[in-house]
Amino acid sequence: MEQNPPPPTFPSPEELKTKISEFMKQNFGDHVSVAAFPAPEPAEAETEEKPEPAAKAHDFEFNFLPRDIKAHLDRFVIKQDEAKKVLSIAVCDHYNHAKYLDQLERDNPKAADQLEYAKQNVILVGPTGVGKTYLIKHIADLIKVPFVKADATKFSETGYVGGDVEDLVRELVHKANGDLNLAQFGIIYIDEIDKIASAGNLIGRDVSGRGVQTTLLKLMEETEVPVRSMNDLQAQLQAAFEFQRKGKAKRETINTRHILFVVSGAFEKLKEQVARRVRQGQIGFRADPVQVMDNELFQHVTTQDFVEYGFEPEFIGRLPVRVVCLDLDAEDLFKIMKFSEGSLLRQYERAFRAYGIEISFDDEALRLIAEAAASEKTGARGLLTVFEKLFRDYKYHLAGSGLSQLRVTAELVREPKRVLDRLMAEGEKHEARMLEDAARQWAAAFAKAHGIEIVFDDAAVRRLVERAHSERMTMTDLCAHLFKDYQFGLNLVKKNTGRSNFVLGADAVDGPDRCLSELVVQSYYPGSPSMAKP
Ligand code: ADP
Repeated sequence: MEQNPPPPTFPSPEELKTKISEFMKQNFGDHVSVAAFPAPEPAEAETEEKPEPAAKAHDFEFNFLPRDIKAHLDRFVIKQDEAKKVLSIAVCDHYNHAKYLDQLERDNPKAADQLEYAKQNVILVGPTGVGKTYLIKHIADLIKVPFVKADATKFSETGYVGGDVEDLVRELVHKANGDLNLAQFGIIYIDEIDKIASAGNLIGRDVSGRGVQTTLLKLMEETEVPVRSMNDLQAQLQAAFEFQRKGKAKRETINTRHILFVVSGAFEKLKEQVARRVRQGQIGFRADPVQVMDNELFQHVTTQDFVEYGFEPEFIGRLPVRVVCLDLDAEDLFKIMKFSEGSLLRQYERAFRAYGIEISFDDEALRLIAEAAASEKTGARGLLTVFEKLFRDYKYHLAGSGLSQLRVTAELVREPKRVLDRLMAEGEKHEARMLEDAARQWAAAFAKAHGIEIVFDDAAVRRLVERAHSERMTMTDLCAHLFKDYQFGLNLVKKNTGRSNFVLGADAVDGPDRCLSELVVQSYYPGSPSMAKP
């Protein structure tokens, strides 16, 4: 009798991934790939529903004053005082309101619904590398909320604006280690926002830039973003698995109401635009050409200026907190190195310490470095460039050279190559001295342990240093290896002759066994010639 074949078993996640990959490739070509495919969660998870994240809403704590935040920022960020102050206030207002609204929603949902509030989203204007991101990151660190940064240009490039922008919100969940509630209080930072406006071109504004603005606008207001992206195949399949197991799939969303948005950009042309208008309107305000946007000038920036720059009025209207970060000059860069807790000097101290070298910096040297960095015109990032260039060869050649101190002087900054050559020669000399000492210490330890004194003559010490160097061995290991039989051999000699003091020459280093056997033979036959001197 013919039997029906058993029904095919449900494929394993790996098989499923292969099948889906093949299917995708056939239908869509090479452009689509399937990422790591998650195994379904273990069975015991089925019975227990995870608690709804909303239930944890009251977990969010915020108890800071603006001056606490400013004090924290002062530890890391040099200058930018106005920005620190304005941001500290905006952040406190934002999170105090979020806390208040959360409470009200529990106590009186109707009143919460009717409450009006203008969210304190921020627009930060300033050149590159002056601490815009650094400020926001340190705020997020202090108040312990997740922080996500992206460039606005990325959105218009891909063409699929909505999904990418929403991905930022989902990234917050990732940064909050899956804590949906905490993610809803995160900070999203979008740089290069000026690139999605087309300045001075009201009619031909590019569509994708406007698309990004509209999408961002929605997020900045209030919207629900699904935790699982619609075009994330992995997440969708995970949902399908869940549906298969439970008969329903949980639809989790992140509400963006309490997410703080910070956008930033250099707004190169804005300063000219505003300066021109101010100059026309207020004679004598400023006769000289404006170099950078400063707070004085920025006070005159209106929403209309941003609109002329190429922003939608609604978009710019959602960014009521506006602040400038100022350019950094050489003096500021000097202070960053000297006083910021996040100073690059600490990083270099650690890097050199790992090679056993203690590095220290003269102020005069730091001033020269600051000047070189300032001329890079990339803000504090210029410091990184200058340091990397200056110390690359130093790290390479001094690591393992025996040098234990490196003092960065003005001369070193001015003539790095010459100073390095000198240090390397010094390092070699220094290393040789250390090895010589180690050889003598080994001999002293030998005498102490075995009651037999070994003295290396100058030629022997020189050969030992050469061999330790070329064979890349420590002196202790080298001596232990070369003279491993000396305890036994010299003891014999001592027994035969009563001699307990031996001076070894270079030949003992080159042929330790031969030298020892001669000594031993001679102790039995005192007439025979010996290499070791009495
Ligand atoms: P941007 O203004 O382009 O966002 P960042 O904030 O990313 O620049 O700055 C780059 C790095 O330079 C920071 O990580 C920080 O180490 C340093 N830095 C920049 N500005 C300052 C500042 N005002 N004080 C101290 N460090 C700064």
